Amino acid sequence: MEKDIIIIGGGPAGLTSAIYTSRARHSTLVIEEKAIGGQIIITTEIENYPGFPKGIMGPELAMLMEEQAKKFGTEIIFDSVKLIDLDNKKIITENSEYKCKALIIATGATPSKLNLPKEEELTGRGISYCATCDGAFFRDQVVAVVGGGNTAVEEALFLTNFAQKVYLIHRRDRLRAEKCLQERVFEHKKIEIIWNTIIDSIEGQESLRGVNIKNKITGETTFLPLDGLFIFVGYTPKTEFLKNIVDLDENGYIKVNNKNQTSIPWIFAAGDCVLKPYKQIATAVGDGCTAALSAIAYLEGY
Ligand code: FAD
Ligand code: NAP
Repeated sequence: MEKDIIIIGGGPAGLTSAIYTSRARHSTLVIEEKAIGGQIIITTEIENYPGFPKGIMGPELAMLMEEQAKKFGTEIIFDSVKLIDLDNKKIITENSEYKCKALIIATGATPSKLNLPKEEELTGRGISYCATCDGAFFRDQVVAVVGGGNTAVEEALFLTNFAQKVYLIHRRDRLRAEKCLQERVFEHKKIEIIWNTIIDSIEGQESLRGVNIKNKITGETTFLPLDGLFIFVGYTPKTEFLKNIVDLDENGYIKVNNKNQTSIPWIFAAGDCVLKPYKQIATAVGDGCTAALSAIAYLEGY
């Protein structure tokens, strides 16, 4: 199959690009390896995306973006991109290969790990990276959230709907999360913040039993019994397949110019996979728009 524009990733950035490129009458294919919507389908209520003063649920916003892209003729297929053949402008997926004239990469990011022994083994057995997916399994139980950013704080608040107690374990004495989220967490009776503390090791055989936590100031280590551990310590860009294809920084983020063009003239990139300071739906959508307009300009020669 050959298309004018291929977009890798069906999150907010990729779907925005698709709306613009298909509306400009360029044949557009979105290749998505999991589910349309990307990270927004694992979030609950979105309060800071303009146009929805009462908030909107993540999956509903994803559905609306998909509907808008399809309305202008975007095609969507479910497959995983493995390789880009630069010489032939071919996109090689797990199941097929596609040709295009311009490519937009919008592969987003995936939750970072603590990289501790037993972390992988106990994932799905008490350890989780998605409160929306797994929170309900911990009704009336004791859980901990690791991290101090927006995700950790929002998810700690969400987990109070199920758990009887939520510890928020943060490595510093100040949260990184937005002030309005911090206020909610400080006021919540079910949440206890454990400051200046890291997880030293994870305990459990068949399932999680708890964690040994270490206070960074006193050096003291204590055992914290837990039913669940939710890890929200940032994200890693999904760009492994782009090594030696486009310029990446040392953490794997794609380097782009102010037109969202990569080091290869026919390849553009948008959203959380790009090197930029703020990762939000609004910034992903902005990038998606810029990348699409740049790809259109590239194809039309202006
Ligand atoms: P993603 O949403 O990550 O989408 C990328 C897509 O690409 C995914 O669907 C993925 O499966 C696909 N993909 C990756 N690699 C491949 C491949 N090789 N082949 C095919 N497909 C591939 N932001 C806000 O503004 N407000 C919020 O309230 C908010 N809440 C959040 C809550 C949580 C729990 C999380 C995790 C994030 C939240 N964010 C929020 C951040 C926001 O969701 C992201 O900034 C946004 O989704 C980034 O969009 P994206 O399209 O760049 O990437
Ligand atoms: P983040 O902002 O990068 O925060 C990661 C947190 O994890 C930080 O508090 C960091 O500590 C901590 N951390 C990192 N590595 C750690 C380790 N090895 N051990 C212990 N703690 C560690 O990531 P995020 O919260 O997932 O947010 C990602 C992006 O999505 C952000 O741009 C965020 O604004 C956006 N987002 C927005 C919303 C919203 O707008 N409502 C909601 C969710 C996410 P330090 O603080 O000490 O660095």
